[in-house]
Amino acid sequence: MTKHTHRIEPGTRVHLDRIDPDDTGPLHSKEKARARLAEDLEELRRLQYLLYADGTHAVLVVLQAMDTGGKDGVIRHVMSGLNPAGCVVTSFKVPSSEEHQHDYLWRIHKAVPARGTIGVFNRSHYEDVLVVRVHGLVPEETWRARYRQINEFERMLTENGISILKIYLHIGKEEQAERLRARIQDPAKNWKFSMADLEERKRWKDYMEAFEDALRECSTEWAPWHVVPATHKWYRDAAVARLLRRRLEALDLTTPEPREDLAKIVIR
Ligand code: AMP
Ligand code: MG
Repeated sequence: MTKHTHRIEPGTRVHLDRIDPDDTGPLHSKEKARARLAEDLEELRRLQYLLYADGTHAVLVVLQAMDTGGKDGVIRHVMSGLNPAGCVVTSFKVPSSEEHQHDYLWRIHKAVPARGTIGVFNRSHYEDVLVVRVHGLVPEETWRARYRQINEFERMLTENGISILKIYLHIGKEEQAERLRARIQDPAKNWKFSMADLEERKRWKDYMEAFEDALRECSTEWAPWHVVPATHKWYRDAAVARLLRRRLEALDLTTPEPREDLAKIVIR
């Protein structure tokens, strides 16, 4: 993994236990991180406007994490700075009976952002090689084939102007325990507590294996994965904002040429 860009180089094996979830990269304090986040959020607003004006690209942010990993927090702290008119968040839950009648990418494709906008997936098609694999909801040959299918799907999207930014928020098992305890102890967080999270927690090892495989199999040149250390929320937010900023900058966005010869227009 490239230090501080958090990018998983395509073709490399991922060992999550060798990536420190407490890492704060070059940002050693909360103050520093918050200051950089504020700067990046301001730049993101400008870039988002340009993305809209340019009108030829969309950006799709895919967020995955274990329960309590901070997907909602990232959406609150990073995406909230954007213009809501050009940012759509989609949360993927257990598929509905209608969704079950279709291929697993059907609901995903429908939610892919339109040109000029930013889409955020809170969970995604990756659940179909994560929870589905861990719980054996389909036979192994079915989920195994999905790595290739997902890569081809994402390649098609990329070739059609959708820039995909995939981020795994990395926390350790002990940090999750603390966050789950906080949901029990802090009345303001009680509503977030779910017994289902404890059930999933028992399968932590299986999830880590499933994540490592997904990160390796689906980190591609066109849509690489990023593993963002997420113990420190201030680092997590700053790191995600920076990744999104860099992604938008890389699109080389420009405002289109005026449609009319403006020099000739006189408004009376
Ligand atoms: P939450 O994000 O906490 O609201 O929980 C959503 C739940 O939906 C999680 O337990 C996910 O594992 C589950 N989920 C999301 N997508 C799928 C899927 N394709 N198949 C099965 N379960 C899913
Ligand atoms: Mg949950």
